[in-house]
Amino acid sequence: MRLSQFPLSTLKETPADAEVISHQLMLRAGMLRKQAAGIYTWLPLGLRVLRKVEHIVREEMDRAGALELLMPAVQPAELWQESGRWEQYGPELLRFHDRHQREFCFGPTHEEVITDIARREIRSYKQLPVNYYQIQTKFRDEIRPRFGVMRAREFLMKDAYSFHTDQASLEDTYRIMYETYSRIFTRTGLEYRAVRADSGAIGGSLSQEFHVLADSGEDAIAFSTGSDFAGNVETVEAPAPGDAQAAPGADMQAVDTPGKHSIEELCDFLAVTADRCLKTLIVSGSEADVVNEDGKHLTGVNWGRDLPEAEVVDLRNVVAGDPSPDGQGELVIARGIEVGHIFQLGRKYSEAMQATVLDEQGKEITMVMGCYGIGVSRIVAAAVEQNHDDSGIIWPDAIAPFQVALLPMNMKKSQRVREAVEALYADMTAAGIDVLLDDRAVRPGVMFSDMELIGIPHRVVVGEKNLDQELLEYKARRGGDSRDVPRSEIISFLQGKLA
Ligand code: ATP
Ligand code: MG
Repeated sequence: MRLSQFPLSTLKETPADAEVISHQLMLRAGMLRKQAAGIYTWLPLGLRVLRKVEHIVREEMDRAGALELLMPAVQPAELWQESGRWEQYGPELLRFHDRHQREFCFGPTHEEVITDIARREIRSYKQLPVNYYQIQTKFRDEIRPRFGVMRAREFLMKDAYSFHTDQASLEDTYRIMYETYSRIFTRTGLEYRAVRADSGAIGGSLSQEFHVLADSGEDAIAFSTGSDFAGNVETVEAPAPGDAQAAPGADMQAVDTPGKHSIEELCDFLAVTADRCLKTLIVSGSEADVVNEDGKHLTGVNWGRDLPEAEVVDLRNVVAGDPSPDGQGELVIARGIEVGHIFQLGRKYSEAMQATVLDEQGKEITMVMGCYGIGVSRIVAAAVEQNHDDSGIIWPDAIAPFQVALLPMNMKKSQRVREAVEALYADMTAAGIDVLLDDRAVRPGVMFSDMELIGIPHRVVVGEKNLDQELLEYKARRGGDSRDVPRSEIISFLQGKLA
């Protein structure tokens, strides 16, 4: 592509309403423009990145044997009434009616539609298992759209839904999807982690999320230092105090604790640790019955003797330093951006919507389902969040809008540079390299800063001086000094870099 035919829409100023770096850089690089809260146009430069992510996702889903279809974005209310979600789904569901007053919604997800398709198209166990997927625009009226396309209202999702005769078959496909997602996120060049998202038994894998690690992530992920345990903190159980209670060693007595209200203040005052303290919350109004008078605290209180035995429930999120729930190592907490989610649905939708098939004995059975989502547009923002510096974006090769920036110095004045750069452009294009030729009449400094801002990972400069020696100047966007590469070797050199 030539920049004379692909005008950039870069901005000098950082837009004031963009909070996170990926949103700022995507606006400044001219990838996106906002139309309304959480609703964006993808400009040509941004769309090239989005399409590359989409291509990787599609290739890997096809490789896994999933079947692509395309469901409608607008869905009839009747299907949602059947599943029960018309009532359950809150204001995130955008509802409207047509000219005949029939109710519809703009799909935030597609379980209902796919289950309807499956019950109509699949009759026999012989047609199972099957895994359908689509890459399609979703709408969720998010309460707080923010961070650009990271948490948008309209966004691009890959969603897949698998159908099975039994749980074992579902687990096979679930495993394949886990591997497929790992390949997808590895190929996009992102640093990611798969984390447990269910609150079930340890090691349970009913649901897992894939997170790109980045400080701006909205989710907190707990990792173990001693094993590969990783879970969303929302779902990781805080450890219950495990030790048996020591025998009573002191009588219960009320002591004066003037002005000491918080556990911290009390620990200081009584010289005890927080795990020896008990906070009482009074829910009903009859304060007169309560021994805890203001300005006094009880010491020497024993479970069983002075209080009924405690019931342990998990109220707080885990924090760094808590023991890992699998008993190996301690937890550390990092921030993550959820880019994918795989889920064993079971029979929730197939039962409600009577999606059945005939089994080997000719008996009608309800299908078992799995669902698998990827936030295609969110991946683009997550990639920027993870790959940038003060000058702009640094795209991983696989999803860069262009792989190589070809920058001629003073092309307008120098016939030699012009000829050399045209020949190079032709050679690179023929070799399948995705090259952006900056044929604008602008100063070298402008070329460099624009290419850095939009994040082209490799740069080749063509100048008079180097041409005398048949050399070209190469520089990687990700750090490192520039170096000279012989003209005769440049194609294989770049191919080596891009491999
Ligand atoms: P979140 O907790 O971030 O709202 P979710 O659990 O609602 O996500 P899913 O219903 O599992 O998301 O959707 C599948 C994928 O779609 C998510 O893993 C995420 O990558 C993406 N996604 C969900 N909501 C949004 C959004 N508002 N903007 C962009 N991508 C989104
Ligand atoms: Mg959500």
